[in-house]
Amino acid sequence: MGFEAPAAIYSQRAAYTDAYTLTHALLQYCLQQGAAVYDRTKVNDIAINPRSVTLTTHNGQKVQTKKLVIATGYESVQYIKEKVVDLKGTYVLLSETHNQKEFWHENCLLWETRNPYRYMRTTYDNRLLIGGRDVDYYNPLKRDKLLKSKSRQLLGDFNELFPKLEFLPEFEWTGTFGTTKDGLPYIGEYAPMKHTYFALGFGGNGITFSRWPRGLLQI
Ligand SMILES: Cc1cc2nc3c(=O)[nH]c(=O)nc-3n(C[C@H](O)[C@H](O)[C@H](O)COP(=O)(O)OP(=O)(O)OC[C@H]3O[C@@H](n4cnc5c(N)ncnc54)[C@H](O)[C@@H]3O)c2cc1C
Repeated sequence: MGFEAPAAIYSQRAAYTDAYTLTHALLQYCLQQGAAVYDRTKVNDIAINPRSVTLTTHNGQKVQTKKLVIATGYESVQYIKEKVVDLKGTYVLLSETHNQKEFWHENCLLWETRNPYRYMRTTYDNRLLIGGRDVDYYNPLKRDKLLKSKSRQLLGDFNELFPKLEFLPEFEWTGTFGTTKDGLPYIGEYAPMKHTYFALGFGGNGITFSRWPRGLLQI
């Protein structure tokens, strides 16, 4: 890999994807199957009726449905009274594009489990990406204020591991993500809300682990 470590696991199975393109491809598939997609439409109110659910959108439209699936990420916790998730602020730094395509062995995904953890990967357009340096989440303002200093730390982290590889930062961003007690997502019914299912891909690997519906919402 080009750096030293006391120990490591090299595994065959790992993957990365362009989440934006993947989401659009999934929505296109749903459209072909007859679903309707309304983006930029916020659901402001959910009313549970004896045999149905009524949703009210931000522009006053009403939708009546027999079953509701809530997949609104961290916003969903407002409907669940038990504490199911710990929120963290996380940071990412992306380099300019390089002319070279191979940066380290097979450009494999790198995950360093130290505390705070760091992860590194390359992109389709030959950029280098480093992320991690999480902090406990309080509010978006506090999270965003740390972006500059976290980016500097991430750049330092990268240079420490790969002193010979040039990393010219071009983009940086921060986001909130949640961890659950066993790292698994929550998928399933929630007794206090009739006719309603939750699909919450919480966790640093929430989407990945959603493949196996083991983290059923049994609280
Ligand atoms: C910087 C960062 C890096 C990450 N890296 C990785 C990684 O490398 N690998 C990995 O597996 N995971 C990663 N994660 C975690 C991963 O992004 C989440 O686990 C995953 O996105 C959760 O999916 P979700 O469908 O449950 O919710 P979300 O992706 O949060 O989707 C919720 C959606 O609901 C919408 N919404 C919210 N409220 C309403 C409302 N009232 N009405 C209508 N719509 C609403 C939101 O706009 C959003 O589109 C990362 C997260 C961050 C922030």
